[in-house]
Amino acid sequence: MNGNLYVIATPIGNLEDITLRAIRILKEADLIAAEDTRHTLKLLNHLEISKPLISYHRHNEETRQDIIIQKLEEGQNIALVSDAGTPGICDPGEVVIKTCIEKGINVVPIPGPCAFVNALICSGIDTKEFNFLGFLPLNKNNRKQKLEEIKKSNKTIILYEAPHKLKETLKDLKDIIENRKIVLARELTKIHEEFIRKDIDDLITLSETLKGEVVLIIEGGEIEQEENDLINLSLEEHYRYYEKMGLDKKEIIKKIAKDRNVSKNEIYMQFVNK
Ligand code: SAM
Repeated sequence: MNGNLYVIATPIGNLEDITLRAIRILKEADLIAAEDTRHTLKLLNHLEISKPLISYHRHNEETRQDIIIQKLEEGQNIALVSDAGTPGICDPGEVVIKTCIEKGINVVPIPGPCAFVNALICSGIDTKEFNFLGFLPLNKNNRKQKLEEIKKSNKTIILYEAPHKLKETLKDLKDIIENRKIVLARELTKIHEEFIRKDIDDLITLSETLKGEVVLIIEGGEIEQEENDLINLSLEEHYRYYEKMGLDKKEIIKKIAKDRNVSKNEIYMQFVNK
């Protein structure tokens, strides 16, 4: 019988951020596949766990997965971890997970820290709908295309960025986000954790001296919508369109009812518990 591949989230700074279940699975696994074995060894030493490790990183994902699959098919249980946070989220994991699924091998998520989720929930920016874009591409054309996507998006945008590229990224964003709010979540779960809520010019100045890991949360933009298009939106989207204009619930319901040519009560009933 095949073993299981456990995809385990590990701390993004604070070593206390690991679940009891993650610790148990790490102890019970036959083998741990780690992005950087030296890095994971520090965590395992802290948890007093001694286990065989195999490296599984961006540059050997394709080749290393054969060994991992073979061991799973022999019945071994394997724990997959990255250096920090959730494997597969801007970290290795996707390749072997897809192959396991194709081969009918059970893949089990063991939830835990993820930088963007924690940045988002404490940003104060809309959490209802968002686009997580990971790192902006370095290739000029692809980057331009992504920036255009951000410019047009009416949803919250989430970006990862390396400290030494932060200034350049903020400068690129300055041209497209106009007066949208932007929050810089830095060093999450660590001693110097902070949420910086300033305008983009101040952030650009700050970024010259800022150290540590960051997540950027950007408020969604306003979409210019033709009145005729509004009825093609879902009710939720239609609601948010007016909410973004700063209207209160009563005014929004009145406007939606008028746009859709239905009674206010009918719309009110849809949002009564929201
Ligand atoms: N797999 C990780 C996760 O679940 O969030 C992400 C790994 S990705 C290679 C690293 C990026 O995540 C960093 O450049 C930064 O943007 C973000 N990040 C990771 N840890 C962070 C932290 N403690 N505070 C802020 N951002 C962090």
